[in-house]
Amino acid sequence: MIHKRSAAVLLVVGIAAIMIYAQNNKEKYRTSPAGYSDTPVLPGQKWRVHDIDRPHPPVVTPGPTTGSPPSDAIVLFDGKDLSRFARQKNKGWKVEKGYVEVVGGSGHLETREKFGDVQLHIEWASPVEITGDSQWRGNSGIIMMGRYEIQVLDSFNNKTYADGQAAAVYGQWPPLVNASRKPGEWQAYDIVFERPRFEGAKVVKRAHATVIHNGVVAQHRQEFIGQMAHRIVKPYEPHQAEEPLALQDHDTPVRYRNIWVRRM
Ligand code: MG
Repeated sequence: MIHKRSAAVLLVVGIAAIMIYAQNNKEKYRTSPAGYSDTPVLPGQKWRVHDIDRPHPPVVTPGPTTGSPPSDAIVLFDGKDLSRFARQKNKGWKVEKGYVEVVGGSGHLETREKFGDVQLHIEWASPVEITGDSQWRGNSGIIMMGRYEIQVLDSFNNKTYADGQAAAVYGQWPPLVNASRKPGEWQAYDIVFERPRFEGAKVVKRAHATVIHNGVVAQHRQEFIGQMAHRIVKPYEPHQAEEPLALQDHDTPVRYRNIWVRRM
């Protein structure tokens, strides 16, 4: 006969084993398609949203350096705290060793301050350990005004749809080049963002972004067709002249550091 205490220990060990197994398998089987052939054709382009047949840009090896903030920059994150972010919404994001890391399920990290036309510098690193593929490899994003995403993704030898790789205007425009570093290495975006202008419900000037990825031009004043969306074309909707900047929680532990912004 099994002693009561032994039975309790066995039960606890059993439950723990099941939980560990479930967690491991959740990570192990995260996959997403390398593209789609049943999505809408993008207005003004010959390609579908996330088109599986869309050609990929050439791979470029970036140089070694990144940028520190100039005297007039608003430093949003200097490696120490998230006081410039709306913490009540972002309590799960983890600050350690000079960086902040996405903790899946915490929600996007949003700035307290709002911004419109800006120059933004931000550094990021995708996880060293590869646990998924395509859009499940180091996915995050710089979401300008909470609506217009410059994609963050581990695009180092990772097949996904071209308009969803690193430095893409997500779901709209692939980058001009793939200047990605290896997983775990720090990468930099310098983004010049021009906000859209509205007259009533109508957009009279669309948003644009120039993106320099690790010192290489990846987007050159590219126009946003609409808002960030998955598998659809999402039109503009009127909003304020300044809105919070958001970093995307896409459930993978991407790290960020040295985030600063200048209003233009
Ligand atoms: Mg993303």
